[in-house]
Amino acid sequence: MRDVDVVVIGAGQAGLSTAWSLARQGFAPETGFVVLDADDAPGGAWQHRWPSLTLGTTHRVHDLPGLRFEPPDDTTPAVDSVPAYFAEYERRFDLPVHRPVRVRAVHRTDDDRFRVETDAGEWTARAIVNATGTWTRPFVPRYPGQDLFRGRQLHTVDYRAAEDFAGQHVVVVGGGASATQLLGEISRVASTTWVTRRPPVWRDGVFDEDAGREVVAKVEQAVREGRRPGSVVGLTGLLVSTPYIADGLERGVFDRLPMFDRITEDGVAWDGDGGRFVRADAILWATGFRAAVQHLAPLHLRGAGGGIRMDGTHVADEPRVHLVGYGPSASTIGANRAGQAAARQLRRLLHDPELPRT
Ligand code: FAD
Repeated sequence: MRDVDVVVIGAGQAGLSTAWSLARQGFAPETGFVVLDADDAPGGAWQHRWPSLTLGTTHRVHDLPGLRFEPPDDTTPAVDSVPAYFAEYERRFDLPVHRPVRVRAVHRTDDDRFRVETDAGEWTARAIVNATGTWTRPFVPRYPGQDLFRGRQLHTVDYRAAEDFAGQHVVVVGGGASATQLLGEISRVASTTWVTRRPPVWRDGVFDEDAGREVVAKVEQAVREGRRPGSVVGLTGLLVSTPYIADGLERGVFDRLPMFDRITEDGVAWDGDGGRFVRADAILWATGFRAAVQHLAPLHLRGAGGGIRMDGTHVADEPRVHLVGYGPSASTIGANRAGQAAARQLRRLLHDPELPRT
């Protein structure tokens, strides 16, 4: 059993910015804090994203604190450039990342610490920063007939390349950036139908700081009230000026249908208004994610609202458990800020308890 002040779980943008900040706040690597990461290599979720996701098609990947991200150009796949940057970051700041180490469960101990149970042994800690993102918990809603479908069903986490669908008819479900990006590329080699629960939110002009603050405030309010957080990246809406969106609009790729009622053996069907049927070879669920926090279940953090009630970056009733990259901080810039805020608060809580905690 290894004993530290803080265990950080996850080494994506959220975990690395927290680790950098903990070091700056005087926590010693290995004895003061460690980072446990389930992946085999640096890069967080970026190492698993589809190869055609380039920095030009993402919203924007912000620098981690203390080191500029200087990718060769906007057309470099994010799956290459971001992991290389994270690897350099871990090396440059000598961050104590242990991998692959998957955290299975976090428990409270009798002496009021935390016991972190992993597939590579146990750690104990005075505080936890959870930074496990969402990528490992893809969400697929349930629809009648889903198990009957004989074609291929996949979530965005399974998507590799448009060519896999050449000549087919693909139904893409979901109203966010992933759905539109994948529609844009699949529609070049296959016919497509776009289905969304609500009409998509198109945005003219630029997504400026005011718009960003508005979106973050909405998610912040949800987690303060203990509701499930929506996605910050999802709520930013679809910028009509983005080249792939402008192109898709012109080609009519984004003429959307409301959600179907059921799935059949070979397609999707609507029951109302005289009915409608669309034959499909594949259904691509671009329907988002849930927070990967199952390993925190023994701490009983979830409330009646289905989410975890938060106060800033920490759990409202448990100032020793921070969730970074969760809710309002689930973006690269949000994760940076939350990691720094969590580290500051943990120094005050664990090392300077007489100081106010904010
Ligand atoms: P991740 O990058 O997912 O890292 C989590 C880490 O935790 C992983 O390394 C994983 O191995 C580890 N982990 C998980 N479970 C365990 C466990 N039980 N034990 C140990 N380790 C564990 N944001 C932007 O700001 N701009 C964008 O352009 C943008 N584009 C996006 C595009 C897509 C397709 C998606 C899905 C998201 C996008 N986001 C974007 C959101 C952004 O990627 C994340 O919010 C941000 O990178 C923060 O990541 P994270 O560190 O919280 O999670």
